[in-house]
Amino acid sequence: MRHVASFWPALILAVLAAAIAAPPAVAADEPPAAPELVENALDGVPPDEARMESYSHGRYVLRLVDFLWGVALLSVIVFSGFSGYLQRVVEKATLRPNLKVALYVVLFTLISFAGTFPLSVYRGYVREKAYGFANQTFPAWLGDQGKELALGVVIQALFFTVLYLAIRRLGRRWWVAGAALAIAFLVLLLAVGPVFIAPLFNKFEPLKDAALRGDILAMAHAQGIPADEVYQVDASRQSEHNNAYVAGLLGTQRIVLYDTLLRKFSPREIKVVMGHEMGHHVLNHIWKFVAFLSIVILVGFVLVDRLSRRILVRRPALGIAALSEPASLPLLLLVLSVYMFVTGPAAATFSRTMEHRADIFGIEATRDPVAAASAFIKFGRLDLGEYHVHPWIEALLFDHPSLGSRIRFAQDYARRHGTAAAEADPM
Ligand SMILES: [Zn+2]
Repeated sequence: MRHVASFWPALILAVLAAAIAAPPAVAADEPPAAPELVENALDGVPPDEARMESYSHGRYVLRLVDFLWGVALLSVIVFSGFSGYLQRVVEKATLRPNLKVALYVVLFTLISFAGTFPLSVYRGYVREKAYGFANQTFPAWLGDQGKELALGVVIQALFFTVLYLAIRRLGRRWWVAGAALAIAFLVLLLAVGPVFIAPLFNKFEPLKDAALRGDILAMAHAQGIPADEVYQVDASRQSEHNNAYVAGLLGTQRIVLYDTLLRKFSPREIKVVMGHEMGHHVLNHIWKFVAFLSIVILVGFVLVDRLSRRILVRRPALGIAALSEPASLPLLLLVLSVYMFVTGPAAATFSRTMEHRADIFGIEATRDPVAAASAFIKFGRLDLGEYHVHPWIEALLFDHPSLGSRIRFAQDYARRHGTAAAEADPM
């Protein structure tokens, strides 16, 4: 999914990840679990299975490999002089500044897509297939990648053309306007995403289960959310992973349930997941994340400005005359990706805090901590997220609390407040 040139998609993913209810991943070889609560959901945190550990640990390692691969690729493009060469090629076609930037961005996006393609295939297809999650054939998966690439090319060409215009016009002060532009773009993409982008990949329709739909809407109205629809999406087209999310801004907000989750989770578990999503909405988490990112972007752009200028002055042989030339783009992205990696733990902690609040909201809205504990146990079994995460890994990488912490919280809540909605479960 994520290639190095995808600064925007990466940011959007980060925001969406924060908006996503459930944690990370189902096994095709697993018998379809009857949609009931797991047994003994209040009996402590279950031990990790070997498959959960290997899938989760691989993900941590891949995070690091992704980052290092991206840094290496961008470094080669900048420091070999290739970026300067690429700009000279573009200049043979056009010397008009805006067009030059757009054309450069298109070529660069294609090249970096190709440069990260092997890793994308492994992470997105081979590994997901090996663990029984991927439901697509390779050509179908490639088709989705092609669509993402086409979108990435258009969005990035538009964004960077305007950003470089700001750099040319505003000189050393570009980063103020640049950050404002980036945030405006982010808000726009978050607003149009659920309505214009997500339907390019999946089919969305009103939730078919009328009883469940009624319950969820009643719950939304009880929480003061004027929703009149809940959506389901054919996420099983791509994968067996289970999830739900709230997306959208400025009037395009919607709650979406994966068909996989509908198939494998009981109505009580689904309601807790929905309560969590409603928590994100009521507690304004998307806007809070936008505010947080605004600060991150502003500081990031200042850093880009100071560091890139210094490097360009010292290394005239790179063939990048100034920061205002499009050939500086990979350098800009290199500085940003190191910066985002370093600030990643702060962003993850910010996100974890919001996710925990959404968990509390979901449990209080449903008064059903048993279903919450059961849902978290299922996410571990089905999506192979390990329960017992090393505290450092959780602190540095996790944008949701670990499943173990979430299960323990739900169980403590049940001990403190009882299990009113859990008639069948004795304390
Ligand atoms: Zn969430």
